[in-house]
Amino acid sequence: MVVLVVGGAGYIGSHACRALRHGGHDVIVYDNLCTGFESLVQGFELVKADVLDGAALGRVLPRVDAIMHFAAHAYVGESVANPRKYFRNNVEGGLSLLNAAADAGVKKIIFSSTCAVYGVPAKVPIDEDTPRQPVNPYGVSKLFFENALAAYDRAYGIRYASLRYFNAAGADESGEIGEMHDPETHLIPLALAAAAGTGPELQVFGTDYATPDGTCVRDYIHVNDLASAHVKALELLSEGNMSFAVNLGTGSGYSVQEVISSVEAVAGKRVSRKSAPRRAGDPPALVANPAKAEMLLGWKATRGLREIVETAWNFAQRKAAVAR
Ligand code: UDP
Repeated sequence: MVVLVVGGAGYIGSHACRALRHGGHDVIVYDNLCTGFESLVQGFELVKADVLDGAALGRVLPRVDAIMHFAAHAYVGESVANPRKYFRNNVEGGLSLLNAAADAGVKKIIFSSTCAVYGVPAKVPIDEDTPRQPVNPYGVSKLFFENALAAYDRAYGIRYASLRYFNAAGADESGEIGEMHDPETHLIPLALAAAAGTGPELQVFGTDYATPDGTCVRDYIHVNDLASAHVKALELLSEGNMSFAVNLGTGSGYSVQEVISSVEAVAGKRVSRKSAPRRAGDPPALVANPAKAEMLLGWKATRGLREIVETAWNFAQRKAAVAR
């Protein structure tokens, strides 16, 4: 299949491009490079354009069989401060893509959704029937697109997979591509930078949660496990399967403290850190029930926290060596 990977020059999209190629598919990357990097998609055809650019979409979509949609702003805090930016890109941009797909007759879309659509769930692990009640504009924008997909499925026969990621982390085993956010806000790269001495002391946001060690618990999933789930989801849709939504996580939660210990073990260095107040909007624990993904996709995460931290460390080391 020819797959248009929208937002393919970003962190998760670039790993999906490689997984698609590995699975025998042809990839066209579509990215405005506002947060993506050309260096992450070397060797792939790249269309530099915005999701709001209907004309550019109209030119490329007749060449494709399916779309993977990763192009979104994804900072929760920023979405609270600047919802306009989030609704413009994630909602209006998403609709622009969806309308262009409908016009071009592209009927398969894999959507990069998030566990943020669940808000603060009443119980963990979280299954797909948990009410979707996002608590920030980022989650609202993702839920909007999930609902738009359902409407376009009913009306126009567009089949979709909404893949609700938990905490994407780690890097490709090659060390060639990985997480490069600016600014970086995620725990693992920040803890690695604190250990390497290339970043500031890590702030541990909240040490008084009702969790075993008082710090927040998250389900960290390796980016290549996410990438392989996308390929499986695409293949399922192309076999004629109905649209679906699944959680993508490992089913195991780790606290901030446990992540720090893993980073210290891998880096062989101490993570300098200090306790800080809770970060607004952080639920105490978010862990997936991955049973539906396993049943439907025949997919299961194969890498654990250790591999996540090792690959992220390897990528960070390579990046630092190139910069020197
Ligand atoms: N976290 C932290 N210090 C940081 C960044 C994150 O203590 O500098 C915590 C955060 O409060 C959350 C967990 O680490 O409990 C994962 O946060 P991250 O931003 O990586 O992902 P999120 O869960 O927000 O998607």
